[in-house]
This record gives sequence, structure tokens and C-alpha cells, in this order.
Amino acid sequence: MKPGRMIIEVMRSFFKKPVTIKYPAVAFEMPDKFRGKLKFYPEKCIGCKMCMRDCPTGAITINKIGDKQFEAEIDLGKCIYCAQCVDSCLKKALEATKDVELAQLDSRKLKVVFNASPKNTP
Ligand code: SF4
Ligand code: SF4
Repeated sequence: MKPGRMIIEVMRSFFKKPVTIKYPAVAFEMPDKFRGKLKFYPEKCIGCKMCMRDCPTGAITINKIGDKQFEAEIDLGKCIYCAQCVDSCLKKALEATKDVELAQLDSRKLKVVFNASPKNTP
């Protein structure tokens, strides 16, 4: 790039709004259809385990915990956020949210259990 052109570019950039944001001081929202942390709706699950069968990393396990009651154990550290399980679930019991704030110092905290108990709905 010629020096004159470069100076014009520098001056133009000087007055432009930055494309980066001061995260985490500034909140942001991921775009629609973003595949972030999974959410499980136990009331919709019929325990067919199609999600388990199709998961490429073995990150999701469906456990029967009562009569027609199921919980989902998801290892968010193993999950690659492909949302295949969401597509495979015909009952819409799984959803990919826009939540990306999953960093943990203790990897055990990435193994989450979703069930009907409010205590276990991370
Ligand atoms: S595919 Fe859906 S309904 Fe079937 S076990 Fe998984 S979450 Fe439950
Ligand atoms: S999003 Fe992909 S990797 Fe994660 S649990 Fe679902 S199918 Fe498995």
C-alpha cells in the first residue's frame, strides 16, 4: 500500500467505531441460531435416546429416573456444540441456547445434570 493511501486508511479508522467490544465489561448477545450451551426440557423427553445415539462425542446421556421421567447428563467439556442432538430430538426436548459463558476452573463443573428439579437445572 502506498504511504498516502495508508495515511488515509489510518485517519478513516481513527474515526470509525471499533469492531471489538470491551467484553466482559460490555454485555453482548450471540446471533440467532447460534449453537451454545444446551438446555433440556425434561417434561418433553420420552427417553428414546436418539440424541445419545447421534452425538458424535458421547457428551450426552439420558437416564431414566422414574416412570416416564428422564434426566440428561451433559458433559459441556466434551460437547462440540454441533446441535446434532437438538436436530435428532423429535420431541424438541433439547435446545441450543445463545449462552457461551461456560469457562470453569474446575472441569468437573462442566458435567451438568438437567432434570425436573429446579436445583438441577443449570
Ligand atoms: S432425543 Fe429427545 S426425547 Fe429422545 S431421549 Fe433425547 S432428549 Fe429425550
Ligand atoms: S451438541 Fe453435539 S456434541 Fe454436544 S451433546 Fe449435542 S450432539 Fe453431542
